[in-house]
Amino acid sequence: MKELTLLLKKFFGFDSFRPLQAEIVQRIIQKKDSLVLMPTGGGKSVCYQLPAIYLPGTAIVISPLIALMKDQVEGLMANGIPAAALNSMMPEAEKQRIKQHAIQGKIKLLYISPEGLMGETDRLLPLLEISLIAIDEAHCISQWGHDFRPEYTQLSVLKEQFPDVPVVALTATADKITRSDIVEQLKLRSPQIFISSFDRPNLSLTVCRGFAKKEKMAAIVRFISLHKGQSGIVYCMKRADTEAVAETLNSYQIKATAYHAGLSPAQREEAQNDFINDRTEVVCATVAFGMGIDKSNVRWVIHYNTPGSIENYYQEIGRAGRDGLKSDTLLFYSLGDLVLLRRFADESGQSEVNLEKLNRMQRYCEADICRRRILLNYFGEEAGHDCGNCDVCKNPPQRFDGSVLVQKALSAILRTEERAGIQMLIDILRASGRSELIRLGYHRLKTYGAGRDLPYNAWKEYIYQMLQLGYVEIDYANARTLKVTSLGRKVLYGEAKAFLATWHEPEELKRPSRKEKARPVRVIESDSADDKLMDSLRQLRKQIAQKESVPAYIIFSDAALQDMVARKPLDMESFAAIRGVGDVKLEKYGKVFTALIRFVLKGAAPAG
Ligand code: ADP
Ligand code: ZN
Repeated sequence: MKELTLLLKKFFGFDSFRPLQAEIVQRIIQKKDSLVLMPTGGGKSVCYQLPAIYLPGTAIVISPLIALMKDQVEGLMANGIPAAALNSMMPEAEKQRIKQHAIQGKIKLLYISPEGLMGETDRLLPLLEISLIAIDEAHCISQWGHDFRPEYTQLSVLKEQFPDVPVVALTATADKITRSDIVEQLKLRSPQIFISSFDRPNLSLTVCRGFAKKEKMAAIVRFISLHKGQSGIVYCMKRADTEAVAETLNSYQIKATAYHAGLSPAQREEAQNDFINDRTEVVCATVAFGMGIDKSNVRWVIHYNTPGSIENYYQEIGRAGRDGLKSDTLLFYSLGDLVLLRRFADESGQSEVNLEKLNRMQRYCEADICRRRILLNYFGEEAGHDCGNCDVCKNPPQRFDGSVLVQKALSAILRTEERAGIQMLIDILRASGRSELIRLGYHRLKTYGAGRDLPYNAWKEYIYQMLQLGYVEIDYANARTLKVTSLGRKVLYGEAKAFLATWHEPEELKRPSRKEKARPVRVIESDSADDKLMDSLRQLRKQIAQKESVPAYIIFSDAALQDMVARKPLDMESFAAIRGVGDVKLEKYGKVFTALIRFVLKGAAPAG
């Protein structure tokens, strides 16, 4: 065990294992099979990379995406671990060279796609001393999973052909069907199943509801201005929105690129590379984006539209904060999206399952209890306490007796003979006087103007709450008009009281105060000594990354730079203690980084 901890520091620069990592590593070293379920960013790679270093021979890692393999190989090489990837896009000579190296035992980890592997089971593989087989993104094997890849189903031959080689399957998708599918299809032998907590406490969770399109955009611009210079992803449901959002952001001098399936592969690759190499701050993408990305310093994720399920949502926000540092997520919830998603679910082959998933997503968005508790509960975990890092925890709802307010709205609905939608209802209550309203004669209703005292958005929020509380329902088949339920009638006739949560003008729409603006930007451009140091370290990292043609986070993660700022190592010995500094990085970068730190702190000229 001690030996493994030493190897962890030597090669990866980490002082200790994260929960379950050590157990998984030991299990593999004992040549036994395992299934590992860990959230994105949980630290799955170390689980098979460390045994690959420890055991003699070459580890075969099956991974579905070229970009993912490239990232992993670069990361390993940067730590001095011989690794390579075989992929179909490579020139034949390059492939041959890598195969020769593998046969000579010069490669500790060989990454290969499932298609590529099938061609090699009788050719290359028998010539190798295989230490272990790792199957990454193993949920791709399951038809029930969201990224089913038929090639994955052929992987069962591995266990048949190499019965004594330990197999570890890893995934961030946890549901039970997928789980047993993986075990069965890979023919794992009495595997131990490791399920780590799906909690990602470093991700803040915020849901905004009822924002109009313009407000959404304003909130996004505000949010990004509070995360200046940091990488983030905006997920949109429609291609056109990815482009529109990117364009708007660019008009605010925020470097943003659209990414969707309608672009050519070359365009997509360029967008992805620009993002990975920090040339673009923001990618506005349909969900196709991000699966192949291991970028550890994505600092925020925004959902421009409501996701269709909690699995999708959690996987997408999981792309933020892989390095464990604080990261923010923001989701826009809208009834309009819900209508669309409901139709997709209806038309999908499995409407029952998908509608239920959508319902759970909706309940999450509408919840007034700690959102993280809901998420963890969804994944079958018990959360014993509120998280303190979601919008509900930060601004717990305050209730008031809103019976009169609800009565006004209900009475207005009935007076239109239940022919009004949400917007029309608010216009009646607030006496908007718009022409369609006058044409329909609604300005003569007794309730016209009865709710003038409240802003539009407050009414919108209260109507959402009335929907949630079951006082009204939406007739989706009939132009989304509002209908009063029997429970609603009770409130209307004073037989029941309605308690509502007080509406506040959302923070997301306020102009950022100076103080607020100063907070996150500080990392980059304020005057405190630590911020200056951080800025200099980032610059140095960028220069080195450019010289070596790898993404900056391959050189050092943001977490490593933060550790340097916190500890201010001035010599090699103290630099060795920094998170993410193993032997190779100490040797390669120790001198320049400590010289820079000395220079920034003391004004001493950096040596060399
Ligand atoms: P996953 O594949 O599960 O999404 P990764 O293997 O990419 O996660 O790890 C996520 C991040 O956590 C990486 O930045 C990695 O360097 C870091 N990490 C992994 N294990 C440890 C550890 N024991 N100590 C500190 N950081 C770790
Ligand atoms: Zn919470």
